[in-house]
Amino acid sequence: MTATPPGARDSIDQRLRRGARPATNSPHPATDRTPLILTGADVVLPTGTVRNGQVIVEGTRITATAPENAHVVDVTGHWLVPGFVDIHNHGGGGASFTSGTVDDVLTGIRTHRTHGTTTLVASTVTGDMHFLAQRAGLLSELAEQGDIAGIHFEGPFISPCRKGAHSEALLRDPDPAEVRKLIDAARGHAVMVTLATELPGGVDSVRLLSEHGVIAAIGHTDATYEQTVEAIDAGATVATHLFNAMPALGHRAPGPIAALLEDERVTVELINDGTHLHPAALELAFRHAGPDRVAFITDAMDAAGFGDGRYMLGPLEVEVADGVARLVEGGSIAGSTLTQDRAFKRAVTIDRLSVEDTVAALSANPARLLGLDDRIGSLEPGKDADLVLLDADFGLKGVMRRGEWVVDPQLG
Ligand SMILES: [Zn+2]
Repeated sequence: MTATPPGARDSIDQRLRRGARPATNSPHPATDRTPLILTGADVVLPTGTVRNGQVIVEGTRITATAPENAHVVDVTGHWLVPGFVDIHNHGGGGASFTSGTVDDVLTGIRTHRTHGTTTLVASTVTGDMHFLAQRAGLLSELAEQGDIAGIHFEGPFISPCRKGAHSEALLRDPDPAEVRKLIDAARGHAVMVTLATELPGGVDSVRLLSEHGVIAAIGHTDATYEQTVEAIDAGATVATHLFNAMPALGHRAPGPIAALLEDERVTVELINDGTHLHPAALELAFRHAGPDRVAFITDAMDAAGFGDGRYMLGPLEVEVADGVARLVEGGSIAGSTLTQDRAFKRAVTIDRLSVEDTVAALSANPARLLGLDDRIGSLEPGKDADLVLLDADFGLKGVMRRGEWVVDPQLG
């Protein structure tokens, strides 16, 4: 990896405005910014769904009243939902957030945006400390430009017993001094660290993270129920991909799953791709935690929005076949190829969740967790005009981010 000097690059928004990828058929080019009324849709609000509702967009925001010159677009027969928020994502479009260049990272972000993810936290995988600090520097510049909402370090402070697709040789115990180094390298943009809290230094590291306003996430863990309770009491608030990379729920040894599901202070991440979780396990978690404590994440790797083939996940080789990513050596599941529009469609068509609960898990809950719910996560006046337009079968038709179409629905 080579470091690029600060200020030498543009954000995706700037590139798009310069015409790097013009929306040629758009009736609302970015330069014109005519206020827009999207009308006739089923609009999902925090208070419920409004049939035949409307959303008014002026500039980068949603507003309550329509300006006189607003352009009216009829989106009858569609759903309007808030842009999706992904708090756990390693890459996409053939690019990795852990190892790619700045342009690669932007490609990954753009790929997920075209699938409805208007806010994304970039996740790293286990690497050596020096390398991770370097990555933190690069990613923090993208956070400063508004391209990502922050950095999530998954590893290296995780359990060798539950390493999943992380390099065992590079794992280490969660020494608070080293955790501190990583969050310092992220220059205020570290939002979450996944760690195995039962390891030596684990609980102290949880305390350090919560003192610094960084989410301590319990994951890739071999903890008992009691050890998990202790970590939650110390300040851990997220379960990293609940069920995956942790002991199964046992009737004599309930392990971390029971502790994480029962505690109202914890938000549980779920990977709803049909591979990581059986639908019944997803339903169990959703019922137990309730709709306000679930965040649907992708845990996506490079192949998301790209295709099958051979990839690298950190230092490990991964084979993606039929959309399922597995380590070449050992066969562990190695992230997903999920995008959040697919997670939405699965949730309402296969898992039989309500549209409102699905919106909570994909937008409102992760926005609140990041402390960004004053700006994003719902379609309310004053918030960023981040929205997703879905057809009656929940297929993605349009994506708007901060008032500009990322995917133009071409509805005139
Ligand atoms: Zn991950």
